Amino acid sequence: MSYVKEVYEGLAANHPHEGEFLQAAEEVLTSIEPAVEKNPAYRQQAILERLTEPDRAILFRVPWVDDKGVVHVNRGYRVQFNNAIGPYKGGLRLHPSVNLSIIKFLGFEQIFKNALTGLPIGGGKGGSDFDPKGKSDREVMAFCQSFMTELYRHIGADVDVPAGDIGTGAREIGYLYGQYKRITNLYEGVLTGKGLTYGGSLARTEATGYGLVYFMSEILAAKGQSISGKTVVISGSGNVATYACEKAQQLGAKVVAMSDSNGWVYDAEGIDLAAIKQIKEVERKRIREYVSYRPKAEYHETGRIWDVPCDLALPCATQNELNLADADTLIKNGVFAVGEGANMPTTPDAAHRFQSAGVLFAPGKAANAGGVAVSALEMSQNSQRLSWSFAEVDERLKGIMAGIYGQIRAVCEEFGFGDNYVAGANIAGFQKVAKSMLAHGIV
Ligand code: NDP
Repeated sequence: MSYVKEVYEGLAANHPHEGEFLQAAEEVLTSIEPAVEKNPAYRQQAILERLTEPDRAILFRVPWVDDKGVVHVNRGYRVQFNNAIGPYKGGLRLHPSVNLSIIKFLGFEQIFKNALTGLPIGGGKGGSDFDPKGKSDREVMAFCQSFMTELYRHIGADVDVPAGDIGTGAREIGYLYGQYKRITNLYEGVLTGKGLTYGGSLARTEATGYGLVYFMSEILAAKGQSISGKTVVISGSGNVATYACEKAQQLGAKVVAMSDSNGWVYDAEGIDLAAIKQIKEVERKRIREYVSYRPKAEYHETGRIWDVPCDLALPCATQNELNLADADTLIKNGVFAVGEGANMPTTPDAAHRFQSAGVLFAPGKAANAGGVAVSALEMSQNSQRLSWSFAEVDERLKGIMAGIYGQIRAVCEEFGFGDNYVAGANIAGFQKVAKSMLAHGIV
């Protein structure tokens, strides 16, 4: 049996209930096999066994009191997966679906994504099954303070630097930072995604969505195409989706559909992003409100957003939101490229279907790396105690996304992978981390 299969079977036997983690591990392990087979040191040094076992996984109780005086207990997680190339770095997800498997899958993916950025950041992820939706600001603050009261002892500017993710936006990061500072008396870059008045970076809010579109532009340019004039469908209407839409529109694309977890809107004339921002960022309401701004648009709670014909599909909501049937529909409707703004939004069979149909498929760990890249730039600014201009950060982001594409292209050429960006991204990220792990000895 090959080394990769042996390691995967061991994982599957040890963690039968961690479906999302196994899915991510299988995808990475399978695609890096050609590189693993080339270097016997990986097996000798048990690189894959060490890479798939987190350095540590911290689980903790998060008690808090709601506005009626009722006590709630949520579960907090921080998985510090791998710090071979830098301090652990990865977001905090606040969503009722959060469990250890999801945090491990995200933390594992983060190792390779962070390596691809070319910046010195390791992989980690955390979060809680707390749902900020429908909670008052005071309740969210009570949760965040309780969460940080345990988390603070495990993190630090040179140790582990959490950030936002689903459910963790500027408000939550502010409360978390306030509590960290209060407990430790340290004013340091321990979180990213901070507000601009206390160490945040310009362009961090936009980074993941903008970076996704920059990455897709690189892919299209290599085929003699551009974003301009393309019809685009974007799932989600959160941070990633909103700024992907903004950049796509700036570059001349027509975005015709967006969604939230209740339904999706179709606007043949092109999405009115100001309306989406008002509904989602200001009023924190449901996307169904969109039709009150644009009466000619349609709102659907049935059917699939992926039924809308498009040239570019950008899934930017959550994991496994685009399945095989969706892929078939998109292909039938002539989709040219798919870029994952979310983490693992495409099921493995759908991803394979795109690739075998010749659709350009950009995996999240490359396509959405712009967010963590600018987070790392936020860390640099905090260490320097300086703030760079929006244009400077945006320019660096563009360069980083082009650099990621370049690394992937080089691996694809070396291994004869054609346009298999999944294998290209996994191998490029893996080789960098594995090289550092080999250098550090058995630790
Ligand atoms: P947000 O919480 O800002 O937005 C998430 C969006 O997805 C919302 O529109 C939400 O709808 C929708 N959504 C969430 N869960 C589901 C579900 N089960 N079914 C359908 N829709 C759903 O998160 P982000 O935009 O920050 O993150 C989106 C994805 O991008 C995640 O996979 C995240 O891990 C990934 N990512 C984010 C980065 C960042 O910088 N923010 C960086 C790299 C990756 P609703 O409002 O109804 O909940």
